[in-house]
Amino acid sequence: MRRRKVRCYRAFAEGAGTFNNEVFYIATEGYRIELASCTCCGEVFAVDRENRNIGARALREVSASVACPGCGTVLRDSISAYPEVFLARNGKLGCFSPPTIIPPDEESAVMEFWALEIEDFV
Ligand SMILES: [Zn+2]
Repeated sequence: MRRRKVRCYRAFAEGAGTFNNEVFYIATEGYRIELASCTCCGEVFAVDRENRNIGARALREVSASVACPGCGTVLRDSISAYPEVFLARNGKLGCFSPPTIIPPDEESAVMEFWALEIEDFV
């Protein structure tokens, strides 16, 4: 699985009774990349919706035969939209809605995530 650099914003979310959980989100405008994560271990993935093998396919379908590089779980069973669902520091799942007002560019950072890709999709 490749790593992929993604420009995103950082936020600190409250979730599952814990505070200051660091989460990342992407501006909805521009390039159509989404983030998803493994709800077992919190590993974050970049999903390129402009990849024709992915398109509008459901996350579970895209990850059907992919093992999480973080914990080995088959992602079909653990993948979820991120940071709408994220793994909080206490191991429970929290929910975070990214703000609709996107911060200025200088507050963004380039992060590297696993690229969720369909390499041997038939
Ligand atoms: Zn995992």
